Amino acid sequence: MRSKPNILVTGTPGTGKTTTSAALAEATNLRHINIGDLVRDKKLHDGWDDELECYVINEDLVCDELEEIMEGGGNIVDHHGCDFFPERWFDRVVVLQTENSILFDRLSKRGYTGAKLTNNIECEIFQVLLEEAKDSYKEEIVVAMKSDSVDDMNSNVATISEWVRSWRV
Ligand code: ADP
Ligand code: MN
Repeated sequence: MRSKPNILVTGTPGTGKTTTSAALAEATNLRHINIGDLVRDKKLHDGWDDELECYVINEDLVCDELEEIMEGGGNIVDHHGCDFFPERWFDRVVVLQTENSILFDRLSKRGYTGAKLTNNIECEIFQVLLEEAKDSYKEEIVVAMKSDSVDDMNSNVATISEWVRSWRV
């Protein structure tokens, strides 16, 4: 039994997962694990996908790499997908959501154009990550949070930090 909770922070790219997770880690002393960085640094992938311009994640390698760490508790996992992690890993699943025009600007600034930009905006419009989270975890641990502004982010970090403080097995 873990003594600290594990939290998954998910959502469409650009919704603020990494910024929010970093702030949350600082506020709670939990460990921030950015799956994208982990995959790149530990080569937990099957090569580069030229079309999608990202690594092809090897989900088994990622899960093997994290099993012991997750058993220990106290982790914030930051990833734009959530269906391949073991359900038992997480005590809370946070789905960040951003208004379309705001997300469009953020992703444009990041250099996304064409199909990559459109696909991500559609992903947000159709609430793909919220559906994926609800399909993969018990509904009562899944929480959607608006992430349009810095105020939203601060309030989300405060809410989740409070939840961490009051968490008991
Ligand atoms: P993700 O990890 O989900 O792709 P990031 O955390 O990298 O998103 O955020 C993408 C960009 O949007 C960054 O420039 C970040 O500063 C900004 N950003 C993220 N969340 C918010 C927010 N709630 N309000 C304003 N700007 C934000
Ligand atoms: Mn990120």
